[in-house]
Amino acid sequence: MSFLHVDLQHKIYPNGVCTLQDLHFAADKGEFIALVGPSGTGKSTLLNLIAGLDSDFHGSIHYPPDTSLSFMFQEPHLLPWLSVEDNIRLVLDAPARQADTQRFTRMETLLEQLDLTDFRNSFPGQLSGGMKRRAALVRAFVTQPGLLLMDEPFQSLDEPTAQGLRQLLLQLWEENRPTVLFVTHNLNEALLLADRILFLSARPAHIILDYPVPLARPRPPETHQLQPLQDELLQQRPELLCGIPTFYQPGQG
Ligand code: ADP
Repeated sequence: MSFLHVDLQHKIYPNGVCTLQDLHFAADKGEFIALVGPSGTGKSTLLNLIAGLDSDFHGSIHYPPDTSLSFMFQEPHLLPWLSVEDNIRLVLDAPARQADTQRFTRMETLLEQLDLTDFRNSFPGQLSGGMKRRAALVRAFVTQPGLLLMDEPFQSLDEPTAQGLRQLLLQLWEENRPTVLFVTHNLNEALLLADRILFLSARPAHIILDYPVPLARPRPPETHQLQPLQDELLQQRPELLCGIPTFYQPGQG
């Protein structure tokens, strides 16, 4: 049985912009799903609805009520006046912040695994972009999320750094197996990471292709090795990355 069910009739912002329409999918427990679609179509809006940050929509979104949820954004959103460790402790429950509980031990392990132990007392302003993302990954995984929402988390990094972070993410996902929804513009990144790619149309977004990635794991570590698969997909469906607005009516917003 599926873990996450998304059945959206529509999401219309108060200014009349209809961003999602007739968008339906389900995700299995532990599945890694990438969401790929043109800019401004509604990918962030969709993640916000799933996270419960916005409840103003028509339709339904279901996952088990006791699910622990983590959200990782394009910016790492570390509080600049707190150390790396204190930023991570913020998401731990009160006893775990003080005592040697399971989650506290888990933080220690993750800091070590992501090579941040020596920087636990550093402030975000003293870290590189890649280190900030590693701290955000620790914060995302320390609560052992059942559902992990990621909104272009490796955008605006140089490719080697982004590539290292993708490998760390895959390692953490293999060990913890949250259900992941990962928004990206980068088809190579989606092919490297995901079990399935949901291609979204232009606004208002609906799914134009639900694509199971035909690659065994572990995947080739270099994204350029995925290029032949990307070329083949785009040759068959050249419209995929720009999305075709089949529901859009002029003047609809
Ligand atoms: P994406 O993540 O795919 O780039 P977004 O979900 O950020 O797209 O936005 C989808 C559309 O909804 C865009 O046209 C955007 O301008 C509009 N939008 C986003 N947030 C709001 C808001 N709070 N009020 C009105 N329109 C919004």
